[in-house]
Amino acid sequence: TRQIVLASRPQGAPTADNFRLETVELPQLADGQVLVRNVVMSVDPYMRGRMNDVKSYVAPFEIDAPLDGGAVGEVIASRSDDVAVGQYVLHGLGWREHAVLPAKSARVVDTDAAPASTYLGVLGLTGLTAYVGLTAVAGMREGDTVFVSGAAGAVGQAAGQIAKALGAGRVVGSAGSADKVARVVELGYDAAFSYRDGPVAEGLASVAPDGIDVYFDNVGGEHLEAAIGALSTFGRVAMCGAISQYNSTEPPAAPRNLALAIGKGLTLRGFVVGQYPELVAEYHSRAPQWLAEGRLVADETFRDGLDAAPQAFMDLLDGANTGKMLLRL
Ligand code: NDP
Repeated sequence: TRQIVLASRPQGAPTADNFRLETVELPQLADGQVLVRNVVMSVDPYMRGRMNDVKSYVAPFEIDAPLDGGAVGEVIASRSDDVAVGQYVLHGLGWREHAVLPAKSARVVDTDAAPASTYLGVLGLTGLTAYVGLTAVAGMREGDTVFVSGAAGAVGQAAGQIAKALGAGRVVGSAGSADKVARVVELGYDAAFSYRDGPVAEGLASVAPDGIDVYFDNVGGEHLEAAIGALSTFGRVAMCGAISQYNSTEPPAAPRNLALAIGKGLTLRGFVVGQYPELVAEYHSRAPQWLAEGRLVADETFRDGLDAAPQAFMDLLDGANTGKMLLRL
């Protein structure tokens, strides 16, 4: 079977030679294990951080070891009573065509109820991240004006629509192109702007002239600075990601206006979705209804074949995706 390994650590933006496609023998199944043929895998920005040799909330990837990440696949052999051949499972061993893992590390998913990719996207960690950020982290209230950066990305699309579903007064977003701006407005954002058209603070003022109450931050840097400037008294920031910095080799120049947080009584709160296990059931009790009602519509950008995975990751960091970036195997 084939897998992608980290050949070297990227300096700045990753390049093709940081990755290597390898063919390896599959191990024999041990008791309690399953063999999974992956059908779809998630391609995620947080992987960039794991490619650096820096301790973070997840361990760094090791050189010459396979990459990993969320995937859904079909069980083609099983030595577990809990998971049968033919079932589809969600698990953490993407970036390879086949995975051998303990059945207890896999969750059976119903691919008749929703396509396999959905369990990596809106019904998976992507949707949960948006929900956790808005509710537990930002404490969004009905009527709030909410600003979401990275609005056309996987988490951003979900965050804008979930904010609306939770009763936000006005939801505005930023994204990297006019097409993406148009798309998020179709999906339910009240207004959006392209951060490539000028300073973020000006774009934000054009869509939220009366300021914002909540900022869902996927981007960091200049976006965070603009949001701090626009936040109302007791405004709240859910710090979800800082993708503008992931490829940086220098510390960020912004936000330069952090001291405004004092007078405004702002809350800036970081989070990792895994820190809120108590919200998983709550989200799964609400999200299917939003999907069924068409209030939560998620775009997917597919690439095909394991060979295409490194390029898909590089393109994700460059904004080639609208909605969730996925690889079909
Ligand atoms: P996305 O689908 O949003 O893909 C990344 C997008 O980021 C690109 O499409 C691109 O779109 C945008 N981008 C890239 N560089 C920049 C830049 N310099 N400035 C502004 N936008 C940029 O990925 P996800 O939805 O999966 O992730 C979104 C964020 O959420 C990331 O920061 C990620 O790390 C974080 N995250 C955090 C989690 C947590 O638990 N805290 C869990 C999951 C994700 P564009 O064309 O608009 O530039």
